[in-house]
Amino acid sequence: MVIIKKVKRRVPGGKISTHLRKENPKIVKCAVCKKPLHGIPRLIPSKLKKLSKSKKKVFRIYGGYLCSGCSRELLRKKVRNMR
Ligand SMILES: [Zn+2]
Repeated sequence: MVIIKKVKRRVPGGKISTHLRKENPKIVKCAVCKKPLHGIPRLIPSKLKKLSKSKKKVFRIYGGYLCSGCSRELLRKKVRNMR
């Protein structure tokens, strides 16, 4: 699973040429505590397209954005502020 990116590099002759660089897709992390999220695959977009929706995300409020602990904390705070 590799993403190929174009990078511009100055070559010894002084010219700028485009090089191709291989990169692994990044791990999706929690927006608050930066822990890696479970249930979200680390695949390139073309492979992600072939998966079903339920295999790509977590079906919870803030699923795929916050981890379970952080979303629990946030919901508690929101409920308390509603009163
Ligand atoms: Zn978190």
